[in-house]
Amino acid sequence: MGNVFVICEIEEGKIADVSLELLTKGRSLANDLKCKLEAVVLGHQIKGIEKQVFPFGVDVLHVGEHKELEVYRTLPFTSIIVELFKQEKPDICLLGASTLGRDLGPRVSSALQSGLTADCTSLEIGDHTDKKAGKDYKDLLYQIRPAFGGNIVATIINPDCRPQMATVREGVMKMEVFSEAHKGKIKTIDVEKILKPEDLLVKVLERHMEKSKVNIKNSSIIIAGGYGMGSKEGFDQLYQLAEVLSAEVGASRAAVDAGFADHERQIGQTGVTVRPKLYIACGISGQIQHTAGMEESSMIIAINNDSNAPINKIADYVINGDVNDIVPKLIKLYKKNTK
Ligand code: FAD
Repeated sequence: MGNVFVICEIEEGKIADVSLELLTKGRSLANDLKCKLEAVVLGHQIKGIEKQVFPFGVDVLHVGEHKELEVYRTLPFTSIIVELFKQEKPDICLLGASTLGRDLGPRVSSALQSGLTADCTSLEIGDHTDKKAGKDYKDLLYQIRPAFGGNIVATIINPDCRPQMATVREGVMKMEVFSEAHKGKIKTIDVEKILKPEDLLVKVLERHMEKSKVNIKNSSIIIAGGYGMGSKEGFDQLYQLAEVLSAEVGASRAAVDAGFADHERQIGQTGVTVRPKLYIACGISGQIQHTAGMEESSMIIAINNDSNAPINKIADYVINGDVNDIVPKLIKLYKKNTK
């Protein structure tokens, strides 16, 4: 059996959070399978990068260092990963469901004729019996994700082709250091030998990057508003409450679609996944596509005028009433208490 591989993303010398989250998951999958966890980092001037990945329990780190790999480009990255995988024959390969992962994953999967499940929300190891073929499969990767508009949770398997590939969005898996003292082995990829001139046909002439101004993922308190906030002006109350509580403002998709908030604030299946200490859901019904992105919050307070709103079932505290009455009262109360 091959090992579990994680393709790590790097930006300005730092391994992306989504890759560290996948290393954490990869470590636990490798433990279940009693195999090694291996990571791949491609980039330029990445000396010492192992210090960022070894604490996450990586046994083998494949490093591809070359000036042509400074910025992600589809063709050279694909060629290197495909060649590496032909040699190493991984059992499982995990990537972030990021711009890079969404581009690279299908390319690699197509070249190796393996399968890929995008946007998994959970990954587990399990067995499968194909009753029709009378065949038993052991230790497959269960690639679990919502399907049919989020109405069912599907478990997808890839019994025969390898590697079993999956992408996962940032924030879905937990990030946990395995051991600060853990040390693995470094293997150098011979980039020059793999790259062909045609891999380098596309040149990056100019690169513009803009950091997101919103940081909901790392906020310990989130005030989230839904369609029940009624308008963009209604949302202004949430910004005031957020200011008093040093919180960030999140939104449901219905609120984003209605123009009450920007897409970067959307929480849920097609937005950000968050795990704050406190989540205050204001005028949000609590459809599964929304709760998928916030149900692991430590404490949930729901403010809703419908006592049967689904969000109430997962809330620790429910305030039954109109957001237009309750939110101003909360602002007033917290202001008084913080004076
Ligand atoms: P509604 O469902 O309209 O609920 C509004 C709530 O506000 C109700 O509970 C109502 O009782 C309450 N309310 C109304 N007025 C007041 C008031 N004055 N005071 C107090 N309460 C009030 N949704 C997401 O959020 N995130 C996603 O990432 C996401 N991805 C999706 C992906 C797919 C493929 C699909 C099909 C859907 C997705 N959705 C997502 C949409 C999701 O199904 C719901 O439509 C959406 O979450 C509903 O948003 P809401 O709760 O704000 O609105």
